[in-house]
Amino acid sequence: MDYQKILEDIYKEILPFACEGAQADYIPALAQINPDQFGICLKLVSGEEYSHMQADTRFSIQSIAKVFALAMGLALKGESLWDKVGKEPSGTAFNSLVQLEFEKGKPRINAGAIVVADILLSELEDAEGEFLSFVRALSGSDDIGYNMSVALSEREKGYLNAAIGNLLKYHGTINNDIERVLMFYFKMCSVEMSCRELSLAFLAFANHRRKFDYAGISLTASQVKRINAIMQTCGFYDEAGEFAYFVGLPGKSGVGGGIVAIHPLQYV
Ligand code: GLN
Repeated sequence: MDYQKILEDIYKEILPFACEGAQADYIPALAQINPDQFGICLKLVSGEEYSHMQADTRFSIQSIAKVFALAMGLALKGESLWDKVGKEPSGTAFNSLVQLEFEKGKPRINAGAIVVADILLSELEDAEGEFLSFVRALSGSDDIGYNMSVALSEREKGYLNAAIGNLLKYHGTINNDIERVLMFYFKMCSVEMSCRELSLAFLAFANHRRKFDYAGISLTASQVKRINAIMQTCGFYDEAGEFAYFVGLPGKSGVGGGIVAIHPLQYV
């Protein structure tokens, strides 16, 4: 299979649509990002790697970070994680409040990630440090970090996530101080990675035959497969059905413009 040519053809095919998107300007720092950047990287479980354009340019991973947080939450809490976080797709916008209110504080997507952030803060002495160590170990890049100007910019305008945090606190779903939980959540979203780093990090989820043990976070093959199931059903918010219909792979998108998809036991 000529994967290199496929990647180059994909680029040509999507170029005419490049002008259709827009940055997520509700996070002011993201509105400053050059929208014409494009990178793609394909990594096979056999180790081969193919890339095109700016595969080494880092960008804000935003909600892609939720997969890493979920993996940590599942490793720390096992199945009891699901007592606090729903695993059904929301079918609504990632930051929808309606559903959270209707379901009396048991969250699905954004709200779910905020609850996972709260769980990590309760379980770990240095959750922010351990989150970074985990992402660094998965991707083999020691200098991956939080972008504080993106995190603070989101916090400044993060009215909807603050509302979600308050509703969760009202329902007793989060234990820690709302401000602390939200800041950790915003920091996770602000992590910057390149396509190449993301593809290496997600290879661990694609290749569930390989032992999953990174910076002290270990998952069984079955847990890795469960995470893939959640990516398949919930990874794309209100577009999850659309993505499953047209692409059919588990994955995760983020408002930083990144999309990751994996083909279990084949590639990411
Ligand atoms: N940090 C963003 C938010 O909560 C992440 C959203 C996303 O990537 N879909 O609004």
